[in-house]
Amino acid sequence: MPQKARAAIVDKSEAEFRIADVEIDEPGPHEVRVKLVATGLCHTDLAVRDGVLPANFPVVLGHEGAGVVEAAGAHVHDLKEGDRVVLSYGSCGDCRPCMEGDPAYCDHFTDLNFLNKRLGSDKPVLGGEVNGAFFQQSSFATFAIAHERNVVKVPDEAPLKLLGPLGCGIQTGAGAVLNTLAPRAGTSIAVSGVGSVGLSAVMAAKLAGCHPIIAIDMQEERLKLASELGATHTINAGDGEVPEMVRKIAPEGVDAVIECSGAKPAAAIA
Ligand SMILES: [Zn+2]
Ligand SMILES: [Zn+2]
Repeated sequence: MPQKARAAIVDKSEAEFRIADVEIDEPGPHEVRVKLVATGLCHTDLAVRDGVLPANFPVVLGHEGAGVVEAAGAHVHDLKEGDRVVLSYGSCGDCRPCMEGDPAYCDHFTDLNFLNKRLGSDKPVLGGEVNGAFFQQSSFATFAIAHERNVVKVPDEAPLKLLGPLGCGIQTGAGAVLNTLAPRAGTSIAVSGVGSVGLSAVMAAKLAGCHPIIAIDMQEERLKLASELGATHTINAGDGEVPEMVRKIAPEGVDAVIECSGAKPAAAIA
């Protein structure tokens, strides 16, 4: 039986979110239906809404969902009703990057995350004309269908209201440092732009023993938070030439720069 739900629909590029009733298909053999408790709002959602990234409209966006499994398909073995979970991005599991343990580089990433292709089924997730399966979740809704590949169980006592961003922003920043950069203790690092992704990179750099950890931003309150979370130095990019200010802290420059601001001048420096 389809599940009735409320969802935030974007009808066309640059339109406002519109709250409406939708019908969500029942979970397929490898899927779960999740009752959402909270979801993060990521810049990617807004870039898709505004037509900067690929999209099929009308669409239900949202890709940082956290909630409780409410129904599980017949072939789902690691998840059951009542499990508390966080949702992340979709990946096929069969292509070479997926087989080699790099699902973020899945050959089908665009189809499975941006273009509403439901993994393992041609049946649409949502009734009517509305596109779902955004990042295999479309979490801007009261219920979501997710594939077992993009669902991670969390402890029962974990605060679900806070955990949605684990599925995108936090793992993006932390993963860039811990998995891609894989720094040795003592690696010097600068993080440009300390929103949720950059702050996660700062926390990961601290965890990895990086030094110095230089946070760069234009907002003082973000820099203050970065200091609390592990930055050893902060630079307000509005105060002058950033490379010079970095060299005052690290005379030979830094070993690594993580660029999280999306600002063109920052990318040029990195
Ligand atoms: Zn995101
Ligand atoms: Zn793949």
